[in-house]
Amino acid sequence: MRVTSLEDEGTAHLKADLLLGCDGLKSAVRDIMAGAPDAAGGAFERERYPSPASQLYYKVLQMPAHIPLKGNLAAADDHKMAYAFLAKHRDPETAMAMVAYPVAQPDEPRTVNIIRLPNHAIWDISDTNSLFEFLEDAFPQLPLKDVLSEEEAEDFVTIPPSKFPAPQFTKTTFATLPGDVPALLLGDAAHAFPPDLGLGVNTALEDVYRFGEWLEETADDPVTAAQRMDQTQAPERAALVRLVQTVAPYQYNQKPKQLKFWALKFFAVKGLNRLLPFFIDRPAVLLAQQDHLPFTTIRKRQVRNRWKISALVAAVFGAALWTVA
Ligand SMILES: Cc1cc2nc3c(=O)[nH]c(=O)nc-3n(C[C@H](O)[C@H](O)[C@H](O)COP(=O)(O)OP(=O)(O)OC[C@H]3O[C@@H](n4cnc5c(N)ncnc54)[C@H](O)[C@@H]3O)c2cc1C
Repeated sequence: MRVTSLEDEGTAHLKADLLLGCDGLKSAVRDIMAGAPDAAGGAFERERYPSPASQLYYKVLQMPAHIPLKGNLAAADDHKMAYAFLAKHRDPETAMAMVAYPVAQPDEPRTVNIIRLPNHAIWDISDTNSLFEFLEDAFPQLPLKDVLSEEEAEDFVTIPPSKFPAPQFTKTTFATLPGDVPALLLGDAAHAFPPDLGLGVNTALEDVYRFGEWLEETADDPVTAAQRMDQTQAPERAALVRLVQTVAPYQYNQKPKQLKFWALKFFAVKGLNRLLPFFIDRPAVLLAQQDHLPFTTIRKRQVRNRWKISALVAAVFGAALWTVA
């Protein structure tokens, strides 16, 4: 920040050396960048990819870190553990899970996610009595009145559900805004996706870390650091978004048949990798958990593996046909 003028009344005009646009998916900074003179050719348009996960709606509830369970079931009381409570229903329009996330302290409330397709019965509930009735029927193991406050339930029924974003990234993340202010997008403003791989926060933090590295590299020149960051991270943003689009979009069990097919493919690739480790790579979902691997490398390995598996299947099929003939 530099002081550009100091008026009589003591009002200072400040000019940022660099504006960091960390304002999330609906970034206002990105919208202003799109109007900047160097934004020609749709440089700040988001490249979006379809994903089965981005059709899902979600709502969030708060529950205590210690969740007692009815009957002889042990309480969900380890605040460092995640718990998934499964509903008794099997019909896709009523089947659901409540996923309670870990918290740092035992007295902190847990975030509990409900993630279902738009045609699920829970989205039609508009009053708290019906919500308690529905949840008590679906989750007989949970003493709902003890763990879900009236206030939480009221918020749940009045706030409309949100939808997961399509996997997307912004092609360019650096621009000079009107008033000669350089700006750089980081985090969800630059790349966003459904939480399939749990990478949203990590990649936002990684952006901050990389920018810090570029600042060091350029001896604290924020504009050059931001420009270098923009150029070098562009292929990483694209690869990350393509990975999230393809690696595990059915993990929410929104389409049980597709989840089973995905699991079958996963174990088949894992088996082939065990059998032929010199030829077949590990499934991409496992590679995505290796934090030392750049996303561009994981994506290349994922694509190469698909070709190799297709070639292997074709060769086995061809050999079988030749043997029979
Ligand atoms: C249901 C759900 C589950 C998720 N689960 C995971 C998970 O398990 N693991 C994971 O890594 N990621 C997860 N994510 C993704 C993760 O939440 C995001 O990727 C991450 O929060 C992005 O961080 P960010 O700082 O870029 O943006 P945000 O967290 O969106 O922060 C942007 C901030 O900017 C503020 N802001 C916006 N506009 C303005 C303005 N005009 N003026 C001032 N402030 C403004 C907002 O209020 C907000 O505080 C999940 C997302 C959802 C929706």
